[in-house]
Amino acid sequence: MEFIEKCEEKLIEKFKNIDDVSYYNQVKVLNAFRNNNIAVRHFNGTTGYGYDDEGRDCLGKLYAEAFGAESGIASPHLLSGTHALTVALFGILRPKDTLFCISGIPYDTLRGVIYGDNNGSLKDFGVNFKYCELKDGCFDFDEIKKSLDKSVKIVYIQRSRGYELRDAFSCGQIGEACKFLRSIGYDGCIFVDNCYGEFVEKKEPTEVGADIIVGSFIKNAGGGLAPTGGYICGKSKFIDLIGKRLTAPSIGLEVGSYFNGYQYLYQGLFLAPHTVAQALKTSLLIGQAMDALGYKNYPSIDKTPYDITRAIEFGSEDKMIDFIREVQYASPVDSYVTCEPWDMPGYSDKIIMAAGTFVSGSSIELSADGPVKPPFIAYFQGGLTYEHGKYALERILSKIK
Ligand SMILES: *Cc1c(COP(=O)(O)O)cnc(C)c1O
Repeated sequence: MEFIEKCEEKLIEKFKNIDDVSYYNQVKVLNAFRNNNIAVRHFNGTTGYGYDDEGRDCLGKLYAEAFGAESGIASPHLLSGTHALTVALFGILRPKDTLFCISGIPYDTLRGVIYGDNNGSLKDFGVNFKYCELKDGCFDFDEIKKSLDKSVKIVYIQRSRGYELRDAFSCGQIGEACKFLRSIGYDGCIFVDNCYGEFVEKKEPTEVGADIIVGSFIKNAGGGLAPTGGYICGKSKFIDLIGKRLTAPSIGLEVGSYFNGYQYLYQGLFLAPHTVAQALKTSLLIGQAMDALGYKNYPSIDKTPYDITRAIEFGSEDKMIDFIREVQYASPVDSYVTCEPWDMPGYSDKIIMAAGTFVSGSSIELSADGPVKPPFIAYFQGGLTYEHGKYALERILSKIK
C-alpha cells in the first residue's frame, strides 16, 4: 500500500486534469438532457414495430448532442462495437467504392467484416479496401495523399490502439487529419472508430471534422450501466443511410422497439463522463506502478492518455497470464474463476480475457485481455470505481513482486 500511495502522489496533477475534463463533459451531457426535456416517460419500453418510440428517438438525439453531432442512432439493437461499425460501413458503402484506413490495419474483428472471403464481407459485395501504415505512430500524410483516389468513399480512422502497440489518437491529431484531407480536395466520409475514446477529452472527433463516429455501450459510452448496445453519430445524410441499413431501406429509423425500457441507457450516458474518469485514473495508477517496476507499458506514463486502455508488456507468458488471472480474482463477479486462453470468435490468436463483470464482456468494467503470443502484452482497461482498480493492483503486485 505504501508503494501504491507513492505512485498516487506522482499522479496528483494528472488526476486534476482528469477531474477537469470529467466536470466539463458531465455538464455537456447534463445540458443535452436538459435541452431535450428528458422525462420519466422516455424510459418506457415499447413493443412490436415501436412506432413513436420516444425513448429510442430521444436517446439518439442525446448522444448526438453530447458528441457535437447533427444526428445519432443509439440503440440496444446495435449488438456490439463490431456490429455498430459493420452497420455504419454497409450503410454508406456501395459496390466499387473504396474504404481507405489511414490508421494502420483495423481492429481484429473488423478484418473479417471488411475483407473476409465468402462470409458476406464488404469485399463480397465489391467494396475495395486499402490501408496505410502509420509513420512514427502518426498519420503518414504523404502516403495518404498518394493513395487517395476518386473511388475512396470512406476514410477510416481507428482512434484506440486495439491489439497494436501504438498510442491512441487525440482529437487534435484526428482534427489535423480531417483538415489535411479536406485541403487536398477529399469530399467523402471521414469515419472514426471511437471505441474507448469517448469522454476522455473535452471534444469528440465529430467536433473536429469527422463525419461519423461509432462506439459500444459496454465500453466508455454506456457509463458501465448500459446493459448492451452501441451508437452511431454524425452528419444527418450518413445517419439516414445507416438507419436504412439498420432496419430496412423502405423503413429507416421509424421502427424498433425495446420491451425492457431505456432507463439504464439514459442513466449510463449520464454516468459516462464520471465512469471514464474512474477508468482513466485506474489506468494511470497501474501504468505508474508497472513503470516503477520496470515493465514497459503504453501510453508511457509521461504522456497524456487519449483512451482508457493500457498495454503492458510482460515478455513472459506466465507473468501475462498471472496478471490477467489476478484481475479476474479481484472482480465482483466470477472471482472464483481461473482464466484460460481460448479461440474467441473473430480473433486469429488464442485470447485470454478477464472480465468478472456485471454486464457480460463489458470492458468499461475492470478487465484485461490479450492474444497469447510474444511479446506477451496484456491490454488492461476499465474500472467502474478507482478503488476497485487500486485493490486489483494491490493483488497484482503481491503476485508478481
Ligand atoms: C472493442 C473494439 C472494437 C469492437 O468492439 P466489440 O464491442 O468488442 O465488438 C472495435 N474497435 C476497437 C478499437 C475496439 O477497441
